[in-house]
Amino acid sequence: MIAIDLSGRTGLVVGVADKHSIAWGIAQMLAEAGARLAITYQNERLEKNVRELAGTLSDALIMPLDVTDDAQIEAAFAAIGREFGRLDFLVHAVAFAPREDLSRDFVDTSREGYRISQEISAYSLAALARAARPWMKEAGGGSIVTMTYYGAEKVVAGYNVMGVAKAALEAAVRYLANDLGPDNIRVNAISAGPMKTLAARGIPGFMGMLKHHEEKAPLRRRVDMRELAGTALFLCSPLGSGITGEVIHVDAGYNILGL
Ligand code: NAD
Repeated sequence: MIAIDLSGRTGLVVGVADKHSIAWGIAQMLAEAGARLAITYQNERLEKNVRELAGTLSDALIMPLDVTDDAQIEAAFAAIGREFGRLDFLVHAVAFAPREDLSRDFVDTSREGYRISQEISAYSLAALARAARPWMKEAGGGSIVTMTYYGAEKVVAGYNVMGVAKAALEAAVRYLANDLGPDNIRVNAISAGPMKTLAARGIPGFMGMLKHHEEKAPLRRRVDMRELAGTALFLCSPLGSGITGEVIHVDAGYNILGL
């Protein structure tokens, strides 16, 4: 029998806001496989929620982390160094664009909205990967997994500035994979089908996207959290050891469709 056993491994999961967060689904499955996790919360508004959730995992390290704040990144990784002394995987499930920019045609994106969406949704992957690198080297290598969406590849109505940020994120995955490969650190993205989360509610017309997906995807349904989390688990495990720089679609096949 082949089983995935991550006992003795440690991971950092960034992007838990509530129980619907993709990051939370992934954290639960990594913990089920035996990993010890650090879980972060973006700000005080989310702290209570995240502490309650992370408190259900065994021995999680819980810390604040706003990815736009270099001092917080430094503090979080210093804590990981102290507590874990190594890092085996990093899950980056973070994105943001100002609502007024998300709901505009891309051509009307403000300079500031573009900057913010790129900084939080794409640059943060590089910033966290850089900080993770020394601790992953201590572990003899590592796996970094980020979350993306089909709107990076093709025009999806309503996705606007976030589609461009996800395109940058997917390119960042490839460049980071090449930079970090010599240290045996792998970097991949999961391109997820639509999920009802806090972030998704900010996308104009999201419910219509869900319905369309269910009707048209080859599997004629949405994906569920366990399917996304299982793919992240696979990528974080030795079974994924040959895969880096990839965007893996977990979308019930939606991306293969033409007309
Ligand atoms: P979510 O709202 O639960 O998670 C988004 C997270 O980003 C939140 O935890 C929020 O606190 C965090 N975040 C935003 N700005 C931050 C900052 N400055 N510093 C630190 N954290 C910050 O929604 P989700 O759908 O689980 O989103 C997770 C990832 O999955 C995102 O990258 C999203 O684009 C991606 N994704 C979602 C879907 C979907 O349909 N929900 C589909 C494909 C990809």
